[in-house]
Amino acid sequence: MAKEQILVVEDEEEIVELIDYNLGREGFKIERATTGEDGLAIARSLKPDLILLDIMLPGIHGLDVCRSLKSDPNTSDIPVIIISARGEETDVVTGLELGADDYMTKPFSPRVLVARTRAVLRRKKEAAIDETSALNVHELRINPGKHEVFLKENALSLTATEFRILHFLARHPGWVFTRQQIVDTVHGEDYPVTERSIDVQIAGLRKKLGESSDYIETVRGIGYRMKE
Ligand code: CA
Repeated sequence: MAKEQILVVEDEEEIVELIDYNLGREGFKIERATTGEDGLAIARSLKPDLILLDIMLPGIHGLDVCRSLKSDPNTSDIPVIIISARGEETDVVTGLELGADDYMTKPFSPRVLVARTRAVLRRKKEAAIDETSALNVHELRINPGKHEVFLKENALSLTATEFRILHFLARHPGWVFTRQQIVDTVHGEDYPVTERSIDVQIAGLRKKLGESSDYIETVRGIGYRMKE
């Protein structure tokens, strides 16, 4: 099988070397770009399997690179992991809403780098899960066709909106979603869903999950995810 190609768009030589060494050792083929312009050009010609994209780049901003990649049908399927500096949560939120698949905050360890890279590549392959088929996550069993959720054999009584949120998060364990992304997915028919009301819905869901409420994790400054 051909080696999976990873494009690193990053201007800090130390970070590029850390990625090159650690992912190279794991068998990935690494391509480098130090500006957003070069990153876009290489992404379009090479179609790598994954892009690691720094936010603060000379020239085009990383978020604009992300926007261009995700709005172009030729590159929109390539998974993107954003590399952010500490304290750039707002940029991470914007990046995720532009379609980035995950993020890492500098400084990150080689272990985190390899784990995130593998997880995003694996999710990409699994992305084609049928939205109507039954789903088992942790001790939850979700049956979308019947609108049923069981927790350790006990049926949970969820509202339509709670059901949609839980089903959405459960289809992507480990993925972080912003409140706006959750709103966009569940926009309730029962009443208008807002970013703030997502917090209320999540609180309600956790209450019904009882001892398993930690299945839904809060990612500070970003949003929520189903425990991986
Ligand atoms: Ca940078």
